[in-house]
Amino acid sequence: MLIVKKFGGTSVGNRDRIFNVAGRCVEEYKKGNDVVVVLSAMGKYTDVLIDMAKEINPNPPKREMDMLLTTGEQQSVALMAMAMASMGVPAVSLNAFQVAMHTTSTYSNARIKRIDTERIRNEIEQHKIVIITGFQGINKYDDYTTLGRGGSDTTAVALAAALHADLCEIYTDVDGVYTADPRKVKSARKLDMVTYDEMLELATLGAGVLHNRSVELAKKYGVQMVVRSSLNTNEGTIVKEGNKMEKMIVSGVAADPDAARVAVIGLKDEPGVAFKLFNELAKHNINIDMILQSVGRHGTKDITFTCSDEDADEAAELIKAKMDFESIDVNKDVAKVSIVGAGMQSNAGVAAKMFEALYDSNINIRMISTSEIRVTVLINASETERAMNAIHDKFDLGSDK
Ligand code: ASP
Ligand code: MG
Repeated sequence: MLIVKKFGGTSVGNRDRIFNVAGRCVEEYKKGNDVVVVLSAMGKYTDVLIDMAKEINPNPPKREMDMLLTTGEQQSVALMAMAMASMGVPAVSLNAFQVAMHTTSTYSNARIKRIDTERIRNEIEQHKIVIITGFQGINKYDDYTTLGRGGSDTTAVALAAALHADLCEIYTDVDGVYTADPRKVKSARKLDMVTYDEMLELATLGAGVLHNRSVELAKKYGVQMVVRSSLNTNEGTIVKEGNKMEKMIVSGVAADPDAARVAVIGLKDEPGVAFKLFNELAKHNINIDMILQSVGRHGTKDITFTCSDEDADEAAELIKAKMDFESIDVNKDVAKVSIVGAGMQSNAGVAAKMFEALYDSNINIRMISTSEIRVTVLINASETERAMNAIHDKFDLGSDK
């Protein structure tokens, strides 16, 4: 078997952790498997590097920022190879250049385009454990790029796809994917399995376990993924294409505090208004999430939407400058709470049950949006934890059915 194993920052945070990871990889290797390891920077080292940069220049050139950030991963892969060497196991560390991990040119948010596998294959043939820097790539100018925060997961899945690996294991400091954030919901339970689509919704909604682009890639290339802990040998959560029987009606509850609601009251009720408004926001790269338009009356209508907290004020300014309306209201004290489940598509009444849980807890819903496998509500931010617990209890997600 060829196995790609990715370890996050906490898993390689100090000397003992590095030897723990080395030990696990060597164990796999000694079973006769080919092992490719992908590492993040040690602990919070990427944040340390960012702080260092800001001390020199609060607005650092993006190219130089990537040049700096890629050193974090280079450190951890070299140290890991040294640890394995000290255990008498042949290992080699490779950075994005040595592999040739080609990405788009956008610094700080590059996308992987192509991975040369020749060097990796050669090293594997020589029976070495190959340890590769996560999060980084090279662009057409022969410069370093990075894939965006948390991007090492995406490196691992892309490598698994390019190498046709049998399995891609993502090791982290939690046991897997949970029905809800265990820090917020006491009865949260680890899931044995989630579908790619569920994981994608959960990752995007800020469940925080996986980089969402890694899940997109895994789905596209059918990479079998497991999320598990580097600190114990528990089974973890399998992420794969779900068959009908395994589909849970609701798999989990997720919350995203980074939401703001912008309500534009008294717009003209005529063609082109929504286009003009959202086109203006798009031109300024403001991402919109939920959108609600009221029924028109007396020739006017209201449009309410959500965006990130960071973008809300700019959005309001742009609208004030370009649109005709009566009033505008920005509220940043709101949060999104969602339920996700692949089985929702074929089950009626799921949304109603969620709304009932909120009603029972006297929590007001400000906006609602849905996809085939998700229902999201916008509520007051201060009520987030209460809402999560109420919904988690209502669907009995804490019990292993
Ligand atoms: N070290 C990078 C970060 O902290 C990438 C990663 O950990 O996945 O964002
Ligand atoms: Mg991560």
